[in-house]
This record gives sequence, structure tokens and C-alpha cells, in this order.
Amino acid sequence: MNERDSEAVTAQLVAKGYSLAGDVDAADVILLNTCSVRDAAEQKALNKMKAVSGRVRKNGSNVVLGFMGCMAQSRGVELVDQLPDVDLVVGTQKFHRTADFVDDLLDGRRDRIIDTDEEQGSEAAIRDHLLNGNTSKKSVTAFVSIMQGCNQYCTFCIVPYTRGRERSRTIDDITAECRELAAGGVKEVTLLGQIVNSYGKREIGVKDGKSAFVQLIEAVHEINGIERIRFTSPHPKGYGDDLVEAYGRLPKLVEHAHIPVQSGSNRMLKLMHRGYTRERFTELIDKLRGINPAMSIGTDIIVGFPGETEGDFEETLALCREIEFDNAFIFKYSQRRNTPAAAMPGQLPEEEIESRHARLLKLVDEIRARKLRGQIGVNLEILVEGPSRRNPARLEGRTRCNKIVVFEGTKRHVGQIMKVQITEATQTTLYGEPVALSQN
Ligand code: SAH
Repeated sequence: MNERDSEAVTAQLVAKGYSLAGDVDAADVILLNTCSVRDAAEQKALNKMKAVSGRVRKNGSNVVLGFMGCMAQSRGVELVDQLPDVDLVVGTQKFHRTADFVDDLLDGRRDRIIDTDEEQGSEAAIRDHLLNGNTSKKSVTAFVSIMQGCNQYCTFCIVPYTRGRERSRTIDDITAECRELAAGGVKEVTLLGQIVNSYGKREIGVKDGKSAFVQLIEAVHEINGIERIRFTSPHPKGYGDDLVEAYGRLPKLVEHAHIPVQSGSNRMLKLMHRGYTRERFTELIDKLRGINPAMSIGTDIIVGFPGETEGDFEETLALCREIEFDNAFIFKYSQRRNTPAAAMPGQLPEEEIESRHARLLKLVDEIRARKLRGQIGVNLEILVEGPSRRNPARLEGRTRCNKIVVFEGTKRHVGQIMKVQITEATQTTLYGEPVALSQN
């Protein structure tokens, strides 16, 4: 989501005539987009800004220094009190104003701008893309922000306070953006929202037994040129049968679902205010695998939530063994300001959180690696995205199940959907050889 917001701001700056600097020393404007989900992310951004401002202010330059995003939203003026060299603080409903603010600062019309206000309609303002822009890399995939905000108020989470109430764009607006992307060569879109399956609940509602989110997926499915549809992240609570069934009838909807579970303990799920039980979650996974046995399942898990006992944690370990997630992001619980969990009894010592994190990571890594090894010899369809990040002499593509496959290919493969046979697997990556080109 943050990547998407940064791209939209960059695209607006580029449209005004700015260009991306090769490095910090060559820049006239330095903007840090920030995340507040965990304290470590905030500290990283603060340290980065400290280092950058020290470097650029040393020779008295008037480079514009700005914070954007969630930390800008939640800390506002505090940030300039702490780092007086900062000129610009742009909240989460004001990303689209950044380019104008930068103009004002560079032209000396204003000395400092802090804007963290709410803005009606801002959910539709994350719209611009930087296709193939400023780099030689072809854009084959794109993120599309379909909504902003969150109404769930999980007790650990800062997002409802930094992103505001849930607001959805219209289906027409989103499909228009997807059509433009397809015209620009994009083959795969990932629909983004804090809880994507809450999309349009109030604004659009259910029609013919289909939730607004499924109506949106159907509309995107109609677009020529878009070959694959993904979304992230849904919430298990509102994951209805209409969405499960969509996987069975919409071939562009890839068989991959990232569904944050957070814990395997019902007691923890309740304290977290998640609104579902472990049983309800496993039932949902069974349904998804019932629709398509190849369905790959990813998740997010928090370890060390206040009051989590060894027994609760073991329930999470057991859930991971039972479901065998294809991928899982494991997070150490981080206290967030003004969230209910920060004031709950039973905050765990850092060492205990570290130890549980390491134990769970070991288990999910083993499961992922075993599942990847199981793909050796299998033919898989990939969408070729570009040079491999590790070895730019090779190409990489992504399977429908969201696994990276590295292979020997040429530039003309980029943007194509092709079949590869898997020959090798490491902890995180598959290696393959092309078997045949599809007719795309
Ligand atoms: N709503 C979005 C983004 C949530 S942040 C989504 O569902 O994708 C992504 C993950 O960060 C969450 O699923 C959760 O596992 C983790 N997270 C959120 N708050 C946290 C906290 N206070 N400490 C540790 N991890 C947290």
C-alpha cells in the first residue's frame, strides 16, 4: 500500500516536470513515505531523516525534506519539533497534494507545510501510475488502490487512527484505471485495501447475492489485456461464499489467497478483536481448497500479543502445522500508541517475543521450503516480470500462486505468460526452464 502511495506521488511530481534523482546527493526534494504499523518502521524512518538532513543541510542547501504517510499523519507537528529541518509533513489523505506543496516550498511561497487534515474523496486520489517510467523496466504488474481506511479496530493496530474510516472508490473509477493500465501493457493487477473484502459495503452493497467486492472483481475480469487479478488483504470475517466461489468461475482470479489469521488461539483472537474463531478460519481455508486444491494460502501472524501464554502460542504453531501455509509473515507484537492492546495486562518481555518469533519462523520456513521442493518437476504458468533481483542476467516471473521463478530468458519474454518446468527450489525461490510459450 505504501509502495502504491509513493508511486502515485512520484507520478504526480513527474507529470509536473520533476524527475527521479539517482541518489540522495543529487536530489532537490527528499520525501520519506512512512509506515506506523510497528515501532521499528517508525524508528527507521526517523533515523533515515536524521541522517539525510545532517548530510544535505551540512552545506546549507535548501533541499526540501518531507515526511508522508502514516507516521506523518499520527505525529504531525511533533515531527518538526523533533527534526526542525523538515519542511513538509503530508498526512494519508493528502498524498495527492504533495506535488503542489513541493512547488510552493521550492518557489518560496511557503516556508513549511504540515497538512494532516481529512479530505472527502481522497480515497479516489491514489490513481496515477508511473508505467515504464523513469526506468528501463517494463511495467507488467500494477497495484490498484480500491479503498482507504479501516473500521475493524483490531486492538493491536494503529491503521484506523492513521488511515481514517473506510471509504471506497466507485467500480467505474477503478475499472477505468485498470483499463488505462492494460493499455499501458500491464497484465496483472493487485487490488489493494486494508480489508479489501469490505470494499463498497455501504456505498455499493450486495447485488444478486454478490458482495460489492465480488462485483468489482467481475468488472475487472471483463477488461481485455488484464490476465491476472490478485488482491490483498482480505479479512477472514467477511470472506463470504460468493468470494470463495469466484475462484471457481473467474479464471483470471489467481489461486492465491493471503488471509491474515494473526493467532491460532481463540482467546487471543478475541482479545485482538478479530471477529472470528480458529474454527471459522480453518473452515474458510477448507472451502477455498475445496474450490481449487492448488490454492496457495498465505497469512500474517503476530507473536507475543499481551497475555499470550505458551499454550496460546502452541495453538498458533499447531495451526501452522495443520494448514501448512505456503507463506507466512511473522511479526513481533509492537505496542502502538493509543491502541487498546498497549494498555492490556500481560505485556511480554522482549526476549520471550524474540524466542517465539524464532520458533514460529523456523516452522513456517520449513513448511514453505518443503512445499517449494514439492514443485520440482511440475510445469507452472508464470508471468515474466523482468530481470531477476538477485541475478539480473536471468529473468524472473511469478506463478499464479505468487511464487517467484527464476529462469534463463531474453528481454522479449518480459510481459509474457509462459510455461516453465521447475528444476530446482531454494528456501524462497523456484528455478525453471521454459517449456512452451502460450498464445498470448
Ligand atoms: N490491514 C492491512 C495491513 C495491516 S498491517 C492488511 O490486512 O494487509 C500488516 C500486518 O502487520 C497485520 O496483518 C499484522 O499481522 C501486523 N501488525 C499490525 N499491527 C501490529 C502490531 N502492533 N505489532 C505487530 N504486528 C502488527
